[in-house]
Amino acid sequence: MKIGREDFEALMKGEKTIAPYVELDPAAGIYSVFGVRTAGNPNYLVRAIYEMYEASLNRKLAVKAVRKLFRSVGQGSVGLASLLKKQGMELTTAQFVMLVFTLQHQQGWGAPLELVEAGEKRIVLRTKQTFESEVLKDWNMPVCGIHQGWIEGVLKAVTGKTWFCLEKSCHAQGNPYCEFVCDQVEPSWKFKAEAVVKGESAITEFIDHKPLQGTIQLIDEPVVMMPRFIFTSMTQSLKKTMGEAPANGVNYRAYMDMGKENVEHYKKMGITNPKTLSDMAFAFYAQMGWFRLVSEEWDEASKTKTITLSHTVESESFGATGKNVCFCTAGLLAGIIEGAFGIKVQAKEIRCKSKGDDHCVFSITNRS
Ligand SMILES: [Zn+2]
Ligand SMILES: [Zn+2]
Repeated sequence: MKIGREDFEALMKGEKTIAPYVELDPAAGIYSVFGVRTAGNPNYLVRAIYEMYEASLNRKLAVKAVRKLFRSVGQGSVGLASLLKKQGMELTTAQFVMLVFTLQHQQGWGAPLELVEAGEKRIVLRTKQTFESEVLKDWNMPVCGIHQGWIEGVLKAVTGKTWFCLEKSCHAQGNPYCEFVCDQVEPSWKFKAEAVVKGESAITEFIDHKPLQGTIQLIDEPVVMMPRFIFTSMTQSLKKTMGEAPANGVNYRAYMDMGKENVEHYKKMGITNPKTLSDMAFAFYAQMGWFRLVSEEWDEASKTKTITLSHTVESESFGATGKNVCFCTAGLLAGIIEGAFGIKVQAKEIRCKSKGDDHCVFSITNRS
């Protein structure tokens, strides 16, 4: 059954519902609306999606990952946007979002959104609950990543611009409404990198991997994936050519320069606060699999910073050797701190997992 301009207008005014356009063919197992195949709201699928992400992230980041996934779903509404244009309907951004969710809601999917604020660059939407807030009520936190991403995708589809949708309150957290505040933003490198440092995003959200083209980008910067054993392999080869102590020294120096250069790059991207610079480097290297930060302490009396890592790329690559092996990591930490704080430091590994200690611990002191 074809849908025309009058039908859309009646739907928007609430004079009509989608009921006449629903076709159900139980024998074929097909349920369609306006000739587009659809389905009811499978709660178990919603939970499965969240739990799949939760398995490798925490709950907060799992909600973000779902949000990213549903952004692409929302962008599918670009087809509806062009259909409406062809019918001569010029809707405002807010009207379009409301129409999409009216259609989705009547199909048992999207929430019945209410428009609270409709500006050029800010749209605020509200609903008593969403299907994900019901399914994930036990998480007791803002969970509506499906709607956040979906709304962002719809807004992108209709405006061609990037929108950032924040859930200010959520039914799953016990609030009376799920409220979505959507702002049109310029998605800068800085904005995304800061979200990683604050724990609001994980780097996985910004990895653009094109395996068939042989490229990987992390927030618009090219990166590579490499096997961890490159650390043992390169160190062994350096040892063969120059001996163990000089090899360790070369590794330390090379990674220190890399750490410094990395921080310089962040500075060029507009990050200026020294603590943010070092936190950012630690967050990125940690999330890229280099190490996991356990603690960072400062002793005023001895002017010593102590960094404890649960493991490093080298301790895992070398395994038990009976001695310290993390010269690259020590250099990297020194370089990050030198670059961030503009001082000269020396990093020494005082405990190492490869030596049999629980953690790899680095002591960082000033050097003249
Ligand atoms: Zn919610
Ligand atoms: Zn170590």
